[in-house]
Amino acid sequence: MSSDPAPTPTDAELARADAHSARNYHPLPVVLETASGAWARGVDGIDYLDMLAGYSALNFGHRHPRLVGAVERQLGRLTLTSRAFQHSVFADFCEAVSGLCGKDAVLPMNTGAEAVETALKLARRWGYDVKGVEPDRAEIITFDGNFHGRTIAIVGFSTDPDAHDGFGPYPPGFRTVPYGDIAAVAAAVTANTVAILLEPIQGEAGVLVPPDGFLAAVRALCDEHGILMLADEIQSGLGRTGETFACDHEQVVPDVYILGKALGGGILPVSVVAADWSVMGVIGPGQHGSTFGGNPLACVVGTEVVRMLESGEFQRRSRELGEYMHSLLAALPVAAVAQVRGRGLWAGVELAAGQPSARIICERLLARRVLAKDAHEGTIRLAPPLVIERGEIAWAVEQLADSLREER
Ligand SMILES: *Cc1c(COP(=O)(O)O)cnc(C)c1O
Repeated sequence: MSSDPAPTPTDAELARADAHSARNYHPLPVVLETASGAWARGVDGIDYLDMLAGYSALNFGHRHPRLVGAVERQLGRLTLTSRAFQHSVFADFCEAVSGLCGKDAVLPMNTGAEAVETALKLARRWGYDVKGVEPDRAEIITFDGNFHGRTIAIVGFSTDPDAHDGFGPYPPGFRTVPYGDIAAVAAAVTANTVAILLEPIQGEAGVLVPPDGFLAAVRALCDEHGILMLADEIQSGLGRTGETFACDHEQVVPDVYILGKALGGGILPVSVVAADWSVMGVIGPGQHGSTFGGNPLACVVGTEVVRMLESGEFQRRSRELGEYMHSLLAALPVAAVAQVRGRGLWAGVELAAGQPSARIICERLLARRVLAKDAHEGTIRLAPPLVIERGEIAWAVEQLADSLREER
């Protein structure tokens, strides 16, 4: 290939982007041009099955007609007011999303990281105004292996050296404990603890499912000590695990839901924090906001996402097809796989010691027309759009099995 004087369209595009784009990502060598449902086509003219779905931002697949339709209609009407003025699709969105969460109210932002920051601010403010913590003493408990985004505060409590190192000084007030270890959580609680921030399943850490009963135990601990449970369902929520929220698997209701990714239908960044007035009420005018948060396009897409989840069809697909996918993954070559984790249409396939890196397996998958991404060195993350068909899942897992069998 490298001796070929004429670069392929893919190579040419990659080189052009590399010349002028910061190197904060190391994308797989593919350049996508169009997409529909679970499939995306590259500038190479090849159709790829998308088994990543934008890290769960594309739960409903690429360009779902209901979502594209909602945005197209709104594009011809009104696109931005800022929150200085109310617009006519704002109430629908707030009502729909808070209803989905069973909460009184939402605070709309754009990206996931912004929503996490919002939840942290909300929890601190609640700690001072309601719980009565001394000024600037609030503590929030977080977990090893967490991923909540990329802001200074958030990477400050990341335990991933790539994400964390070299960006300090970091805001204080966070205590990090081992994920899934309820005794460690309990030991970290002080009179100043205002919140516990967790992913009900840790996505970026490699789709780590906590021990059974952990979420319920965190809930009980929060109730006992007057602590807010903040569930970051940005990746795990909105159908991904076979339920609307991953917390539903333990019938746990957090005080605050943090949503993003799929809430924007794969079209726009749309995120929210959802909570009851007893918590949300602590934020008043001027104390938090976002120019684009809750904009009309975001609102129509988010509202449509909620409508699509109302029938339970997507959650059921994720549950049933997820069981099927996990049954196929359980039959992967045993020598190559250390563990398969996950729930619903979400899996982390951890490779056995001595295997090629997950990155190399993902490159082999790409050559076999399957898009997947490593989550940390040793784990391949599979999170296909919930519109994927049975046969497509079978084919993708077959490609994975063949990729694992390939000679080095
Ligand atoms: C992706 C993700 C975020 C950050 O979302 P961005 O939109 O990339 O800022 C936060 N938390 C979790 C669990 C995520 O998966």
